[in-house]
Amino acid sequence: MIGLPQEQRRMMEMSLEKVYAYIDSHTDVFVESLVKLVKQPSVSAKGEGIQECAELVEKMMRDTGLSTKTLHEEKGNPVVYGEIKSQKSDRTLLFYDHYDVQPPEPLEKWMCKPFSGKIANGKVYGRGASDNKGNFVSRLKAVQALLEVAGDVPVNLKFFVEGEEEIGSPHLEPIIKRYKDLFSADAAIWESGGTDRRGRPNLYLGLKGVLSVEVRARGASRDVHSANAPIIPNAAWRLLWALNLLKDKEENILIEGFYEDVLPPSSEEIECLKNIPFEEEETKKELGLREFLQNRSGLEALRTLLYQPTCTINGYVSGYTGKGSKTVLPHEASAKLDFRLVPNQNPTEIFQKLVRHLKRHGFGDLEIIKHGSTEPTRTPVNDPFVKLVARTAEKVYCKKAVIYPTSAGSGPMHLFRNFLSYPVVSAGCSHPKSNTHAPNENLKIKSFIKGSKLIATLISDFAS
Ligand SMILES: [Zn+2]
Repeated sequence: MIGLPQEQRRMMEMSLEKVYAYIDSHTDVFVESLVKLVKQPSVSAKGEGIQECAELVEKMMRDTGLSTKTLHEEKGNPVVYGEIKSQKSDRTLLFYDHYDVQPPEPLEKWMCKPFSGKIANGKVYGRGASDNKGNFVSRLKAVQALLEVAGDVPVNLKFFVEGEEEIGSPHLEPIIKRYKDLFSADAAIWESGGTDRRGRPNLYLGLKGVLSVEVRARGASRDVHSANAPIIPNAAWRLLWALNLLKDKEENILIEGFYEDVLPPSSEEIECLKNIPFEEEETKKELGLREFLQNRSGLEALRTLLYQPTCTINGYVSGYTGKGSKTVLPHEASAKLDFRLVPNQNPTEIFQKLVRHLKRHGFGDLEIIKHGSTEPTRTPVNDPFVKLVARTAEKVYCKKAVIYPTSAGSGPMHLFRNFLSYPVVSAGCSHPKSNTHAPNENLKIKSFIKGSKLIATLISDFAS
């Protein structure tokens, strides 16, 4: 609230105290809303409960006082959009969330039914409790508290809640392009985020891009007896030789021009990395590893994790892999790969480079299929919005924020950052033992409530 007249600042602080009191006194009803949403299955991978969940999300937004719209494309799950205008400000803050969840399997590993919303040990349990229903509800409840206490919101607010995040948002781009004006904003808060083991708020400013491909080799028209190996081509070997051309043992990706557009981290980003608590020993222990790849450690390991583009074989299928032996010569082989990309690599160009590379080295006969992609993106560390979110989070949590200039993961953030061109930061209410995507997913009620206060404060700070 730098630059505000003292009286105005005092008024804002006073009304925030009232907002916090409202949130505290409504903890039970807020938790009830979260439980209700968790109880509604919405597994995008199986198409389970999607329409019902979209309707429930829309109803929750309408009940809070937002005007809503459901956006459909020919294909894909509905996007639920909600907005509320401020009487005092022209500025707009957008929240990106998703109502779909990961499949709950393996069911036998859950201590309760995955869609029960069971409350135990001060936590709400259930698939989606944290990712992303908890974050969404904590944000919506912050809006409710502001409206109830002040009768208005200090800035215009928009909610964009999609239903395909957990399957890679395959139909989001046409929606964003078609409704570009609807999604205009000055800044956005991303779906995920939370605090770390020491209770410090973690903020993420970017995501890697991803390019998923499948490479297939074919030999004869059917599998043959392996006695024919001197004269019949073996698809398993052919694919192996081709994959060998993509990466060497020192982890260098060999595709011509692969690193051409890679943007190295800025000096501000390197400074941020130094403040990130990288739990190296815990990670190695948990995964049963004595060392990381190429014995990387400390800042170097963290830098490569966040800034190095990758080429990963996700799976390889060919021939006979059953019990005992089978002297067979496979006629086909296929491998799935993903490339994690960093700014300013472009997935379409990387795909073309891959095809050219294999062709140039005598593997023009392979079939190369592109399965999907997202672009890499980052909001600069020194963007004023990043500074604002960090200041607000530090104020609410009374701990220094940990700023990740990017995450090693991927998602559709580029559509907001690269296409709609506003800063995007992820800040939320998950905690390190939230078990997102795993059995016994949960959200601590305390974290959920604190998350609402964070968002209410952020909205209020954003107004100034
Ligand atoms: Zn997720």
